[in-house]
Amino acid sequence: MKFVDEYRDAQLAQRMAKAIAEITTQPWTIMEICGGQTHSIIKYGIDQLLPEEVTLIHGPGCPVCVTPVTLIDRAIAIASHPQVILCSFGDMLRVPGTDKDLLSIKAKGADIRIVYSPLDCLKIAQANPESEVVFFGVGFETTAPATALAVYQAKQQQIRNFSLLASHVRVPPAMEAILSSPQCRVQGFLAAGHVCTVMGYTEYEPLVDKYQIPIVVTGFEPVDILQGLYHCIEQLENKTEAVTLDNQYSRSVRREGNLGAQNLMHQVFEVVSRTWRGIGEIPDSGLGLRADYVHWDAEKRFADWIDPNPPVLTTECISGEIMQGVKKPHDCPAFGTRCTPEHPLGAPMVSSEGACAAYYRYRGIESINGRLARGVRVRH
Ligand code: SF4
Repeated sequence: MKFVDEYRDAQLAQRMAKAIAEITTQPWTIMEICGGQTHSIIKYGIDQLLPEEVTLIHGPGCPVCVTPVTLIDRAIAIASHPQVILCSFGDMLRVPGTDKDLLSIKAKGADIRIVYSPLDCLKIAQANPESEVVFFGVGFETTAPATALAVYQAKQQQIRNFSLLASHVRVPPAMEAILSSPQCRVQGFLAAGHVCTVMGYTEYEPLVDKYQIPIVVTGFEPVDILQGLYHCIEQLENKTEAVTLDNQYSRSVRREGNLGAQNLMHQVFEVVSRTWRGIGEIPDSGLGLRADYVHWDAEKRFADWIDPNPPVLTTECISGEIMQGVKKPHDCPAFGTRCTPEHPLGAPMVSSEGACAAYYRYRGIESINGRLARGVRVRH
């Protein structure tokens, strides 16, 4: 398949890894933002191809993982009402709330449906005029345009039994939160190619200037990621020139992004602060519905159903530290023992983009024993 197969070429990947080894003279720690990139890295063993000086750490780019417990609890509270049909993406159903998940209340009779597009919810709303159809919308700037379109169309068509429980988040403020943390050990970023396809990369340029850190917009296939790493390390090694923002994913990303999608998002959403699971509140890191769309805002319409003082959850899950690059999944004492995909304690073990799920699926017992970082590296 064009634009896929050539980016999975094993010989090309080996050559890229060799080129990285040839330019690397000292330790570097690089964070890939997106959970999709994390899965590619672990699935294809990209980290094991790199020279031992290069450490990859995994960022907060798994939308399911960063959805806070309070919002899961709100979704559960809303879905528990008999007149509600709650729709979401499949990964959300098994993410633990305070004491249950959406799947467990579905088993007890709640009408919870998996959809592949927020627009499906409008059809469900029209087919069920006696019900309230609520879309639990999670995701970064990649999925936000489709959610915005659903809300926009609901208003245009006056579909008034549809509403949105919004949990959309923005990448640049999360990167700034990581960079400004005293614990930060990130020296370069691979930015998420699909987010930049929508948003472009002008929002990232101030981060490069402020923190003097290279950012490379990068795709998701093995050769993409290795090319992104090469561009990042090349900059880090070259101390005579200023760091810049590079675009490895130019087959999809333009500097200005998709202006049509951005305009639609701007019409429907405004920037709000958002709490990230395991990390805490990050200013300006979320998207909430504008006042013009208050009728379609599930949190406002069903405020009486939501506990204003939710219990504070204590958990052994260290997902916040993993998503900030401070620890890796196998550093969690529960990994692979008390926490597995069948019995997840935290969202990163549930989501198809979660770092813990990637390590469990592709590294298994190797990760459990904590041998990954010291294990089978290819020397050049
Ligand atoms: S292994 Fe489970 S408990 Fe540990 S950080 Fe990952 S999701 Fe959380």
